[in-house]
Amino acid sequence: MTPQLTDNYMVTIAERLKSAYARIALAAKKHHRNEGDVCLLAVSKTKPADFILAAYQQGHREFGESYVQEAVDKITQLANYSDIVWHFIGPIQSNKTAAVAEHFDWVQSVDREKIAKRLNRQRPTDKAPLKVLIQVNISLEETKSGCQPAQLDTLAECIHHCPNLELRGLMAIPAKTDDKQQQIQYFEQLRACFDRLKAQYPQIDTVSMGMSGDVEAAIAAGSTMVRIGTDIFGQRS
Ligand SMILES: *Cc1c(COP(=O)(O)O)cnc(C)c1O
Repeated sequence: MTPQLTDNYMVTIAERLKSAYARIALAAKKHHRNEGDVCLLAVSKTKPADFILAAYQQGHREFGESYVQEAVDKITQLANYSDIVWHFIGPIQSNKTAAVAEHFDWVQSVDREKIAKRLNRQRPTDKAPLKVLIQVNISLEETKSGCQPAQLDTLAECIHHCPNLELRGLMAIPAKTDDKQQQIQYFEQLRACFDRLKAQYPQIDTVSMGMSGDVEAAIAAGSTMVRIGTDIFGQRS
């Protein structure tokens, strides 16, 4: 059921959040991983600030947004909740980098040098460096954003040399498929890219993969952050 803005939405979101944590814990256990090693990012795009607050009141702090203007509106509304950690996970256009650099703690969708350099230049210097994940186009779709695996080293080096950015790892949104083996294969490819990169940058610690439909496959393949929207906040129209 989709939570609507009724008296009940806070209860609904609290219950769904609990289920999401339980699902992660179960998958972690099954694959011999520590539950605490898989972070839950609650993806609140298209949902109102009140929904975010409902999850916040259950102790949740990490939220993901995909549309810059909508996100900035909500970040502004929730400015008093200064321990919320905001992740930008949508495609980034050049003319939106300033707002991303100014308002977010993490950006998971950096896929080219031009964007990295703009974010570095525009990050306010009174803030901690912007934490960056490189988005990798793991299933090599023409239309999807994400850097090609072959360009990963060059982009990582560029980010590594940006003083206002902190490289933390990789993110991917693989092509949708119901084939569990194919899902796992995509996730294992991202994990392999991460392991290669970590040999060079030992400080990186984040593999962001897995959404409402494929949390288990992602955790099996070594995800450290799953991004769940629909299963917590309901269908998006
Ligand atoms: C919307 C979105 C999600 C959440 O997807 P659900 O299927 O609703 O869980 C995760 N990651 C990214 C990058 C998204 O844009």
